[in-house]
Amino acid sequence: MRTTGDRATLKVVLLGCGVVGAAVYRLLAEQSADLSARAGAALEVVGVAVRDPGRPRTVTVPPDLLTTDAGALVTRPGVDIVIELMGGIEPARTLLLAALNAGKSVVTANKALLASHSAELHEAARRNNADIYYEAAVAGAIPLLRPLRESLAGDEVRRVLGIVNGTTNYILDKMDTSGADFGAALTEAQDLGYAEKDDPGTDVEGYDAAAKAAILASIAFHTEVTAADVYREGITQVTAADIASARTLGCVVKLLAICERSHGGVSARVYPAMIPREHPLAAVRGAYNAVFVEAESAGRLMFYGAGAGGQPTASAVLGDIVTVVRNRLAGLRGPDASTYAELPLVPIGDALTRYYVQLDVADRPGVLAPIADAFAQHGVSIKAMRQEGRGDDANLLIVTHTAREDDLAQTVASLSAMTAVRKVASVMRVEAEDDE
Ligand code: NAP
Repeated sequence: MRTTGDRATLKVVLLGCGVVGAAVYRLLAEQSADLSARAGAALEVVGVAVRDPGRPRTVTVPPDLLTTDAGALVTRPGVDIVIELMGGIEPARTLLLAALNAGKSVVTANKALLASHSAELHEAARRNNADIYYEAAVAGAIPLLRPLRESLAGDEVRRVLGIVNGTTNYILDKMDTSGADFGAALTEAQDLGYAEKDDPGTDVEGYDAAAKAAILASIAFHTEVTAADVYREGITQVTAADIASARTLGCVVKLLAICERSHGGVSARVYPAMIPREHPLAAVRGAYNAVFVEAESAGRLMFYGAGAGGQPTASAVLGDIVTVVRNRLAGLRGPDASTYAELPLVPIGDALTRYYVQLDVADRPGVLAPIADAFAQHGVSIKAMRQEGRGDDANLLIVTHTAREDDLAQTVASLSAMTAVRKVASVMRVEAEDDE
């Protein structure tokens, strides 16, 4: 930190100048006077690490600031804050540990890193009296981690239910509104830049949402949860028929990140599920994100907004930078990771939810009784059952009351083995509905 006149100047370096990094660089320049007044110190960008300095960029970075030597930047004497916007686990992890060990504070948007190495990064920050902030890592522009960590610090969070991946929300929304199948909706999302052309798997297989679920669960339940602890299913198996079935039930299909207290522990899972069309999350369209939080005293809260994009994500990064500057000037650090509760993780087999099951059955007398019996034998209670079609086209649509995953899986296995059931056409979870 350097002091000129009556205001200090803090030196910052950026690791990455891509979609988010370029937006942060531009906003730091364009808003420098306001940011300085709000934070209480001026900010000077003294280095920008990239992979290829010759690559065309959306911002003009002076050539003498650009470097490929990120390692030298993070330990450079005089640097106060390292802003990591390169993504991935390595070399980001090694670089941020080096930065923290050199006493620099860190701001990052790297969900993959935080969801797998949060403990060692927070420990390095604590040991070195430095800060680590990562609001942008979950749901882009939406203020979510700070409200969970700070505003709700006096409350008991029961459940966090969110649409935290814009790509999959776009695809499912497209399937719902146009009747397109998964492949066609994915191609459109890729053409519009919502999904990666080469490797859409991180989004559509649910890895991105699982990383965010891990971060949300850790903060909401004061327990260390990593991405590997989160049960994950993506949306690649969702069919146009599933979407149509959801419609007939008054539901819509969303990829949900669900983190909740259950059986005295924490259940964290990501999968596509039906939710009622009147639920606030059902109204989240296109690539938007929203997170629904249920807390003991606060009740139900909803956070909604742009979950990605350079400028929206940069807003969250800048908010963290201002916080770090204020902390530095006050000689303070932000709160450490709170993991005191150390709640056990609930295995997916014990997770409780409701199910929609569609069976292709032979339409003849006496078929319903053994099917209902298969549910009863495994302790799964049926809420509603409806038959559609006749003869060879008969379909049974069944919605259950809340049941354990394992019990439902055993029910489905029994149904599959019955001669009266030609095919278990679809099984999908139903979330966000009160069980009456
Ligand atoms: P991006 O456009 O791919 O940019 C990555 C930047 O990092 C590029 O400038 C690249 O350099 C640089 N880089 C990569 N590896 C490097 C290395 N080993 N050494 C030096 N520089 C390196 O990525 P992004 O979309 O901005 O995402 C950045 C981070 O923000 C990720 O953690 C992502 O998960 C997170 N995030 C992104 C969004 C979003 O909407 N994009 C939203 C929320 C969070 P070159 O330019 O030379 O290739």
